[in-house]
Amino acid sequence: MDRPVNILVIEDSQADFLLLERLLRQHGTSANCVRVEKIEELAEAVRANNWDIVLSDYSLPRLNFSESLKLIRRELPDVPVILVSGSVGEEMAVELLKLGVSDFVLKDNLIRLLPSIRRALGEANERRARRHSEALYRSLFENMLNSVVHCRMIFRDGLPVDMEYISVNPAFEAVTGIKENVVGRRISEVIPGYCQDNPESLEMFGRVALTGEPTRWEHYLTSLDRWFTFSIYSPAHGEVVIVTENITSRKKAEQEREDYSRRLELLLETAGEGIFGVNTEGRITFINQAAIRLLGLPKAELIGRNSHEVFHSHRSDEVDYPWNDCPLCKTLSDGISRSGEETYYKADGSGFPIEFTSTAIIEGDVTSGAVMLFRDITERRKIEDDLRQAQKLEGIGQLAGGIAHDFNNVLGAVIGFSGLLQMKIDRSGPLANYVDEIIAAGRRGVAMTQQILAFSRKQVLDMRAVNLNEIVRNLEKMLRRLVREDISIQYDLADENMVVHADASQIDQILINLATNARDAMPGGGRLGIATKTFVMDSEYIKTHGYGSPGKYAVITVWDTGSGMDNKTRLRIFEPFFTTKECGKGTGLGLAVVHGIVKQHNGYINVYSETGRGTVFKIYLPLTEHVVDRADSQPDELIRGGTETILIAEDDDSLRSLSITVLSQYGYTVIDAADGEEAVLKFAENRDKIKLVILDGIMPQKNGKEAYAEIQQLCPDMKAIFISGYTEEIFPLEGIHDKTAVFMHKPVTSGNLLRKVREVLDG
Ligand code: ADP
Ligand code: MG
Repeated sequence: MDRPVNILVIEDSQADFLLLERLLRQHGTSANCVRVEKIEELAEAVRANNWDIVLSDYSLPRLNFSESLKLIRRELPDVPVILVSGSVGEEMAVELLKLGVSDFVLKDNLIRLLPSIRRALGEANERRARRHSEALYRSLFENMLNSVVHCRMIFRDGLPVDMEYISVNPAFEAVTGIKENVVGRRISEVIPGYCQDNPESLEMFGRVALTGEPTRWEHYLTSLDRWFTFSIYSPAHGEVVIVTENITSRKKAEQEREDYSRRLELLLETAGEGIFGVNTEGRITFINQAAIRLLGLPKAELIGRNSHEVFHSHRSDEVDYPWNDCPLCKTLSDGISRSGEETYYKADGSGFPIEFTSTAIIEGDVTSGAVMLFRDITERRKIEDDLRQAQKLEGIGQLAGGIAHDFNNVLGAVIGFSGLLQMKIDRSGPLANYVDEIIAAGRRGVAMTQQILAFSRKQVLDMRAVNLNEIVRNLEKMLRRLVREDISIQYDLADENMVVHADASQIDQILINLATNARDAMPGGGRLGIATKTFVMDSEYIKTHGYGSPGKYAVITVWDTGSGMDNKTRLRIFEPFFTTKECGKGTGLGLAVVHGIVKQHNGYINVYSETGRGTVFKIYLPLTEHVVDRADSQPDELIRGGTETILIAEDDDSLRSLSITVLSQYGYTVIDAADGEEAVLKFAENRDKIKLVILDGIMPQKNGKEAYAEIQQLCPDMKAIFISGYTEEIFPLEGIHDKTAVFMHKPVTSGNLLRKVREVLDG
């Protein structure tokens, strides 16, 4: 024994007590011995309660043994009592053992005392330990939240068929919801159908009961609509103890979490935006389908890799993109969400613009990763670029158109007066040649202003239903003359009748301009192709090209095997005055004109080209259901004059004086006005004489239409010729009865004016 044994000795003889002490010492037992001989002393000592063993004499003069034993048993239930006395009868000895005395030793055989003490102490310890663990298990059994069921398995032909409850703890009711007393009953009675519905459970319980091997199992009990974990072991052969935990709420929460993450996953995978997440090192931890598709790399090559490396290091231009320029990296390092635009690079090195939002994932106070949401904005950029380009063209067009209009009037006067000069001078003299040159130069100028008006969409169009194939065929000879002999022309015209609403001369212009460019692009010879076909523009086409409106179109394709062009050139070719040709060779107007005409015809133009690979232009013009409308050819009549009185209103001084000169020379009486208001006034004064009014479309005070409306109030049948410079002047004239009024386009030659005047007057 490690510590001294505390021994309470109930003995009236001091001598015997000393003897006992000596004996213990002699045998190496260290002990604290205390002697009592009265009941009060005993009661006092018992209260100290630190005794390991009690040695008691049987007959003491001042103490009744059975009384003291009762006291000891009550107060010190675990302390063993050994009787040390003179002889006690056998009967008595049995009686004492029953009362709880551990052993007795005769005073004359004291040598037996030591082993007896040792054994009693050992037994006491064991008893104490057992009592302790029993109490522990009892309290566990009683207080546990899990149900504990002790059952005996019932077998038939070696198979488990039922089980009988031996005991259940209080939690059984709460866990299973079974309120009735089940002890002694069979489970088949308590839960009807249990044995049929749960053969696997029964089999498992049976196996544990027979093999003694414990097991654990999660199971859903349909009859109770609850989830349970069963921990099963066997306390004795044929019996099982089942500890059951109700895990229904945990299971439901698990299921809800699972459902939630499944829904979340579905959302991620079906989202149109690319979404991926990175950890604190910037490595990709998850990535959705849209992102994989946009980046063009298999998922396995993306997961676990550094996103900055993947999306920025493939760039073909090999420009260094430092780590701290990458918005996602920035978000990772400072925890701040950002959004904006940048470029991502695919594995093949091609970049595409994206719009993104990078968001930090913050747990507690630390960044534990980031999520990137992005979408490809190539299409949007393209539409923006197209819009910008269109606005630019529009702006330049308006500017140039305004100048061209005034310039046209100037040229009109130059050509007109030169024409008069031509009629007056001696055709064989030296001056005739000069005048011819002035007129020729003037006409070239007019041609140029016409082109400028064309791309600014301000020239007057003669719109009719025309067959595109016919236009191309009529132009064949002219194109053959235009391009050199080392260029072959290939025609590939659709069989169908391709009728569009167009100004045929403008379509000629388109073809001539495109063919001229093709020729210039093939200085060493090559092939030029012109093809026509029909095409149905659908929403798919409109979506991918970023322009168009649905319907049936005629497509004219003009292609060549020439030098082609790079991207930078291709983006600018429709700009007026943009040319790559050397000074004096190119005007930069050709394609601007083509573009203007196409737009004016509600069409679209497209170009595909690569350096060294030739060029393809495609023009889409809306098809019409109308039949071809033939313009009546005008016979070359002789010019005749007249004697009628004509009112002419024109705000441009030189043009007005030109018209006055021409008309008076041919016998007419001319009354002139410088604006619309004057025209009305002068008409009122001379209304009986005036047979015809010639009005400029746009004039100060009152425009041509307004003036004519007032004139018609005075004289409803008054005949009129409108002379217009460009489209916008035509619009205010719409709705005018065309029996009495006709239109002429500026510049008007003297011959044409005289012919038209006669035609209207003779009407
Ligand atoms: P210009 O012919 O006076 O230069 P355009 O407007 O007709 O003006 O053409 C503009 C530019 O477009 C040309 O200078 C040329 O660089 C380019 N281009 C046009 N058509 C072609 C083509 N078929 N092949 C190669 N480049 C072309
Ligand atoms: Mg050109």
